[in-house]
Amino acid sequence: MKINYEKIAIVGAGSAGAFLASLLSREGINVDVYEKSRKLGCYCAWGTVESELKEFLKKVCLNIKDYVLSKIKRVIVNGIEVKVSNLITFNKPKLISDLLKGVKVTWAEASREIVGKYDLVVDATGWRRSLLPSLKNDFLMPTIEYVVKTKDLDENTVYIRFGKVGYAWLFPLSNNYWHLGAGDTILDPLFLVKKLVKEIGLKTRILCFCKSIIRLNPPMYSKPIKHGNIVGCGESIGTVFPVTGEGIVPSMKSALILFNVLVNNRSLNEYEYAIVKEFRWLHQLFEIAYSLTCSGLKLAWVLVKNYKSIFRYARRLEAASLINIIKALSKLL
Ligand SMILES: Cc1cc2nc3c(=O)[nH]c(=O)nc-3n(C[C@H](O)[C@H](O)[C@H](O)COP(=O)(O)OP(=O)(O)OC[C@H]3O[C@@H](n4cnc5c(N)ncnc54)[C@H](O)[C@@H]3O)c2cc1C
Repeated sequence: MKINYEKIAIVGAGSAGAFLASLLSREGINVDVYEKSRKLGCYCAWGTVESELKEFLKKVCLNIKDYVLSKIKRVIVNGIEVKVSNLITFNKPKLISDLLKGVKVTWAEASREIVGKYDLVVDATGWRRSLLPSLKNDFLMPTIEYVVKTKDLDENTVYIRFGKVGYAWLFPLSNNYWHLGAGDTILDPLFLVKKLVKEIGLKTRILCFCKSIIRLNPPMYSKPIKHGNIVGCGESIGTVFPVTGEGIVPSMKSALILFNVLVNNRSLNEYEYAIVKEFRWLHQLFEIAYSLTCSGLKLAWVLVKNYKSIFRYARRLEAASLINIIKALSKLL
């Protein structure tokens, strides 16, 4: 296939970069991928919406069944059970390495120096946003995460403990392994982890530990999305649900939008427009995230005002009980 750009580099092989590389390679379009870390897909809890990931994987002829670790039946939020049927944990490192099969990868950190060597450079570097100009008002959430092992919990359950602007989580990975972590823009994530551990009486061995960051400002507030011959894709341009920090599916969605723009020889302006339009509803979730520091009444008003986006989010997970969602949200007040 002939497209406007002859030499394309993708910097970053996370969910966005690896998916875009796979989509382009399958069309016979050569790309050079640069990735600085061998720990692919590691800094993440590996939770996602099953039906949405399944559709993306079909486009690159992969089968979701090869990646599912646990099908989640319930999420326990501050002790309140919400039944769900469209949430899974999956083996993200395996998926990313499969997406990169047949793709040329240079295992090195890329700097702005590479920009002149290519017609188009995709900044898929996640929260680092290594190539696009940095953002003045970036809303970044620090996180910590452990891999732990315990036989004492039900492996179809996710545990959540709200913080202030963030939460602690425990996601099952099958065979008694779990991701235990937390992110919060105000409270110490370690404090939240300890709270969750105490609340569920978890006795566990820690097998590994990492620290990272999640960008919470949506695309509208992550401009520029393109700069010269650099274009952003994934978390570098804020494709993350601002309250939950869920970024795998939205980052892959942004990669698909960029792919469609490139193969149809559309302009990058059209890409920017399409991204802002697709992720417009994240702005309401962003307003909620921003208001989580407020007092009861003000926060209650923001939740009521943006109730549509909250229910839209819950519908994606096929959450069963509206009452329990409202009860769980009332714990924020
Ligand atoms: C602790 C934690 C838990 C999370 N849990 C979930 C979850 O359960 N579900 C969910 O949907 N989302 C989760 N997220 C968010 C999700 O991981 C990200 O939003 C998503 O992976 C973004 O994909 P991306 O490809 O845009 O960026 P990333 O996955 O961050 O990938 C960026 C890649 O670029 C590489 N890179 C950066 N700079 C350079 C450079 N200069 N040169 C070369 N390579 C570079 C990095 O090494 C990295 O591999 C979590 C995030 C964190 C931190």
